[in-house]
Amino acid sequence: MRELASYLGGRWVRGTGPTQALLNPATEEPLATTCTGGLDLGRALEQARAAGALLRAQSFAARGELLRELSRALHVAREQLIALAIANGGNTRGDAKFDIDGAIGTLAAYADIGAELGDRRLLTDGDGIALGKGARLYGQHLLVPREGVAVHVNAFNFPAWGFAEKAAVALLAGMPVLVKPATSTALVAVRMMELFTEVAALPPGVVSLVVGAPGDLLDHLRGQDVLAFTGGSVTGVTLRGGKAALAHSVRINVEADSLNAAILGPDVDEGSEVLGLFLADVVRDLTQKAGQKCTAIRRVYVPKDKLELVVGLLSERLAAVRVGDPARDDVTMGPLATAQQRSDVLAGIARLQSCASVAHGGKVEPLGVPQGTGFFVGPTLLLAPEPRAGDAVHEHEVFGPVATLMPYDGSAASAATLVRAGGGGLVSSVYGDDKEYLRELVCALAPFHGRLTIGSSKVAPVALPPGMVLPSLIHGGPGRAGGGEELGGRRGLAFYQQRVALQGDRALLEAIAGG
Ligand code: NAP
Repeated sequence: MRELASYLGGRWVRGTGPTQALLNPATEEPLATTCTGGLDLGRALEQARAAGALLRAQSFAARGELLRELSRALHVAREQLIALAIANGGNTRGDAKFDIDGAIGTLAAYADIGAELGDRRLLTDGDGIALGKGARLYGQHLLVPREGVAVHVNAFNFPAWGFAEKAAVALLAGMPVLVKPATSTALVAVRMMELFTEVAALPPGVVSLVVGAPGDLLDHLRGQDVLAFTGGSVTGVTLRGGKAALAHSVRINVEADSLNAAILGPDVDEGSEVLGLFLADVVRDLTQKAGQKCTAIRRVYVPKDKLELVVGLLSERLAAVRVGDPARDDVTMGPLATAQQRSDVLAGIARLQSCASVAHGGKVEPLGVPQGTGFFVGPTLLLAPEPRAGDAVHEHEVFGPVATLMPYDGSAASAATLVRAGGGGLVSSVYGDDKEYLRELVCALAPFHGRLTIGSSKVAPVALPPGMVLPSLIHGGPGRAGGGEELGGRRGLAFYQQRVALQGDRALLEAIAGG
């Protein structure tokens, strides 16, 4: 069996002691083991901090070139990465491409931003400000790279994109990164790290990888470091409260749970393109990656008079989903990533049944695996006939192929009240053409979201799925979603930079800012 190593201080090192196994979640076949016992993670952070000088000495254009090389290194081995995601992540080929192409594309997008920013090594923030009566005394805000390490703790569901989307932004901003992928699906991240060192000739210490339990990693964080976490909200709270994080005011970004909503407007007619878009988005989010997407639609609100129609149309589409071993071409939805995920999802479905009943779902017989093998749960549509704030459906994220359908009275105000009961989300999508309804709904939802997508007739043929995170738009959300913000083009760089206000002679400040 393959024994995985971590990549620390520019070399591969294995831990000692008890190991954790990585499985194929469809067949339950063990694929590899890993262990981080005895690894000196404090030293690894120091080595990474030292490598930061190298990045800070480079221009944005040069850092962008590095990202371009990393993107190419993944592109060259795309098929290998897809195969690993199928084996270790329970991904169908489509799911795997979504993750891996997302990684390649995000690195390339930040490479382009590096090229745009050119020869500079630091950025100004806003215009200069005259501070006195004359023009001589001047103020200017600058953004400079922090001199620590960007520690990235990632979730199991996007081992490639999660690695790349965070690393791209940090490296372009001028910070070295230490990545801790979720252990259960780490094979893709390990291969990426190999490719970065073999194909892209990454300088030692600029990217490090901890494969397995985090041990005392976070106890060694210091004031110039940053921590970006993606995962469950309970873990997020633990990490925020870490001793070192509190003692050194470590800057922390959290991307956590989210009860993303899809709201069908009252003007959307049967047979329309907009209804087709809404149905496609809901079904895709239920089944893509077996619903294990932070941006997946969990709550679906439909005007009362269209509820029966929508239940029928969604059930028809879900009945066509073929669950099984994702290595088979005829399978359209794979298993959940781990046994723990499966038991959490089943417990979550039971919990939601305090306010909802099953409209579509039940026992599943997966294709291509012996009965009882694999961490499968079939696509499940629940129906909550009388939704209220405080119901489990507005409180609990079931991180799997599960969504709950709910009626509302067709007014923007009622839809907004129900969606806002979710306590803050990453993304919600609204569907319709009635401008006044859409304006009222979007304005009421905006403070509670990081992103909103509007599916109208004009954009229906070209619309991008709400579950697709784009490098040019921010990803994150308030409240339950963790309060974080990532990506968004140049905006994402700010997390890795220190904003400093300079006061002094105008010509001198302009000379410094030009560096
Ligand atoms: P998780 O159990 O919270 O784990 C996330 C990461 O944290 C893993 O790498 C895990 O490592 C690590 N971790 C756990 N305890 C830790 C500790 N005490 N110190 C340091 N690291 C620790 O979440 P998950 O099960 O991987 O992901 C599912 C959740 O993530 C869902 O709730 C989903 O909503 C959320 N999610 C959010 C987003 C977003 O962008 N907002 C994206 C994806 C997922 P091990 O694997 O080694 O335990």
